[in-house]
Amino acid sequence: MNNISRRKFIKHLAASAALFSAQGLLTSCSKGSRARVVIVGGGFGGSTCARYLQRFDSSLKITLIEPSRQFITCPFSNMVISGMQTMDSISQGYTAQTNRGINVLHTRARAVDASVRMVALDNGDVIQYDKLVLSPGIDFKWNDVEGMDENDTEIIPHAWKAGAQTTLLRNQLIAMDDGGVVIVAPPVNPFRCPPAPYERVSLIAHYLKQHKPKSKILVLDAKDTFSKQALFMQGWEELYPGMIEWVSASKGGRIDEIDVARRTLYTESGDKHKGDVVNFIPPQKAGMLAQNAGLTNNDGWCSVDQRTFESKESKYIYIIGDACIAGTMSKAGFAANSQGKVCAAAIISSLREVAMPDPSYVNTCYSLLSPDYGISVTAVFRYSKDKGIYKTGGGVSPLEADAAYRLQEARYAKGWYDSITMDTFG
Ligand SMILES: Cc1cc2nc3c(=O)[nH]c(=O)nc-3n(C[C@H](O)[C@H](O)[C@H](O)COP(=O)(O)OP(=O)(O)OC[C@H]3O[C@@H](n4cnc5c(N)ncnc54)[C@H](O)[C@@H]3O)c2cc1C
Repeated sequence: MNNISRRKFIKHLAASAALFSAQGLLTSCSKGSRARVVIVGGGFGGSTCARYLQRFDSSLKITLIEPSRQFITCPFSNMVISGMQTMDSISQGYTAQTNRGINVLHTRARAVDASVRMVALDNGDVIQYDKLVLSPGIDFKWNDVEGMDENDTEIIPHAWKAGAQTTLLRNQLIAMDDGGVVIVAPPVNPFRCPPAPYERVSLIAHYLKQHKPKSKILVLDAKDTFSKQALFMQGWEELYPGMIEWVSASKGGRIDEIDVARRTLYTESGDKHKGDVVNFIPPQKAGMLAQNAGLTNNDGWCSVDQRTFESKESKYIYIIGDACIAGTMSKAGFAANSQGKVCAAAIISSLREVAMPDPSYVNTCYSLLSPDYGISVTAVFRYSKDKGIYKTGGGVSPLEADAAYRLQEARYAKGWYDSITMDTFG
């Protein structure tokens, strides 16, 4: 929070705190019944946590703060970009949460003051918590990018938060001539959904193969390896021979500077690449609210107790999903859902002052290379005091698999989407 907004916040809080105090409401953490749990961010982490808190203890006063009335999921948004799905099919509402008694406020949380356990909202209200859960997702490190910032995303969309950016990238592909060059530039680790840039490359190739077969995709990567790499490359060779060129960081893929108006990227190695459509995916950090509340480390992510997700910086605040550092778990919707449940259990245990059992966590990530070609990676995790969250098992799709196997995985991907969104928003 900058100085001016902090002063305003404190002034606003002073009045509210006096009122709360006078009403006897500014108490120490309520134990169990009627405890006030405020959750900021109604995406995969926050929505799951709200739902499971309510399920574990229906007497809690749960408030979910989320500006959007329709949450558009990043999972399956690559399919919207390629024309396989509509925006409607990836839009989730909050009616089910409201119906089960969760107070859903469609506004933005502006600031957190941990010293008085309050959150200031954009609508002017200030709301008090006994426990606060933050699941604000990601923001972008524009300072690390030469020549481009947030204002330029109308020309060079990232489409890394689903919604208007997804539509924009799709429309740019539709407007491109056959024979054009699409550049996709994935970021350095860690970032939201490690396989997703490569799923995007695959599904853009699927679209181009049908509608603009003379076109090419150039992938300028800030890394030397990527998730499910052998499987993706095998699939690209099989489905889109000659269409996709992947350039690793050490072979000249890392971008140094961007000329937005000319849609031209300059690499560290001195090469210049002009695209007809450019999808630059910026380096990432935890959502701005966590930054402004002083809950992030020097790299921009939130350190938490990986058993409970309570912030290492501030008591009574829990951080889940992409924003937190969760051991070796990837930043994914399924991971955020799993963390939301563990966090709900940790909050209930803390409020009731009972010991929490050792948690386990899970993450499965499907990627489509075409409508009939799916691959996946699965991992199961446990917690130990020494290692934090660590992987105990898992697997990836085999390289040696026939078309029927890939088709089956593509079908499982759809089943995965239906069940995770039902568990999170339904
Ligand atoms: C192209 C793409 C494809 C993906 N595919 C998959 C997939 O197949 N499987 C998978 O598991 N994961 C996938 N992911 C990753 C997944 O979308 C994220 O990991 C997941 O959304 C993280 O959940 P979260 O709760 O941390 O953040 P989000 O789900 O992004 O939710 C954050 C919410 O916080 C809200 N918010 C932010 N700041 C504030 C504030 N100040 N006040 C109030 N609300 C606020 C936002 O509006 C948002 O709704 C994909 C990602 C991308 C980009």
